[in-house]
Amino acid sequence: MTGDGTRAVRAGLPEAEPHEPTLPGPVFAAHYHLPGDATGPYTYGRDANPTWTLLERAITELESPDSGAETIVFASGMGAISAVLLSRLRQGDTAVLPSDAYQLLPALIERLEGYGVTVRTAPTANDAQLAALDDSVKLLWLETPSNPGLDVCDIRRLADAAHARGALVAVDNTLATPLGQRPLELGADFSVASGTKALTGHGDVLLGYVTCRDPESAASVRAWRKTVGAIPGPMEAWLAHRSLATLQLRIDRQSVTALALAEALTGRPEITGLRHPGLPDDPAHRLAAAQMRGGRFGCVVSFTLPDKKHAERFLTGLRLVDNATSFGGVRSTAERRGRWGGDAVPEGFIRFSVGVEDPDDLIADVLRALDGARTPADG
Ligand SMILES: *Cc1c(COP(=O)(O)O)cnc(C)c1O
Repeated sequence: MTGDGTRAVRAGLPEAEPHEPTLPGPVFAAHYHLPGDATGPYTYGRDANPTWTLLERAITELESPDSGAETIVFASGMGAISAVLLSRLRQGDTAVLPSDAYQLLPALIERLEGYGVTVRTAPTANDAQLAALDDSVKLLWLETPSNPGLDVCDIRRLADAAHARGALVAVDNTLATPLGQRPLELGADFSVASGTKALTGHGDVLLGYVTCRDPESAASVRAWRKTVGAIPGPMEAWLAHRSLATLQLRIDRQSVTALALAEALTGRPEITGLRHPGLPDDPAHRLAAAQMRGGRFGCVVSFTLPDKKHAERFLTGLRLVDNATSFGGVRSTAERRGRWGGDAVPEGFIRFSVGVEDPDDLIADVLRALDGARTPADG
């Protein structure tokens, strides 16, 4: 047994070979030398690539170190999510999904319904409603903590309820990352994530992955990737693998600073709905503390300012924080989430992603921008 930091720096590396690099560079190949029959690990570039293989091993070691799990990497988080939903569900099946899931899930639900799948939704914060399954349910989809609402559901309890009905369970693990939460250990069948966010952490790569508990599911997700061609480029896969070495450093720093920022915002009169799962009095804290790992509650803090204009003044006043979407990067970002129209949030709702800046600098910048945003600029 090694610690998370040790595992992260070595994850997926090949055996040491004299005069070979520690992490081999990206393999750019559309096809491979293939004498005779079309067998072997590498035949055509849409099916497999050695750079993916190393990254897939690395993610498996982080998501599920002690089981026979398998990971399949994708071109984006949405590529990974749709691979599970569209490969597992057939006409006549029922699926249950969170009503507050990632903003593109409703578009995917509409498509599933068009294919004859019945979809029921329930809020992440309502475990009882999510757990109310009947025998027609084939798949239960969870997202915890949820983006951007930061609600948490009980993976173990819901996985037990789903398995009792013969349904499979998938968890979107994007916000937590495998260092913050291991859904397969909590009973889920799939851990699915966008690697675009905290996993890679530099805001320069789009990537997704699915970690599957059993080989049969893995084979079906792998076949789906080949069929639809939602494959990552070798450069992206290599950049992602390179970034994993610093995952523990980044996640630990970002989690600690996110909690410090949330504490600094507590009691500000202009702020309502302050959420961070690490705050002791957050509605999600007890459950998050029980199922998340190492006090890593993630880098996102969300809160609501009185209105759209107030929120825009705040964002404009920030000097160390980019007004940009996405989260989990080394540079802090914040945005008025309502501008996308996909989430049920108030106009003044801010999703703040804490980077790796010095905590004092960042918190001072936020408090100064909040002070400056209190009243509209004169003139
Ligand atoms: C960003 C995100 C996705 C989508 O990932 P992409 O890499 O942008 O396709 C899915 N789920 C959650 C929770 C996300 O934050």
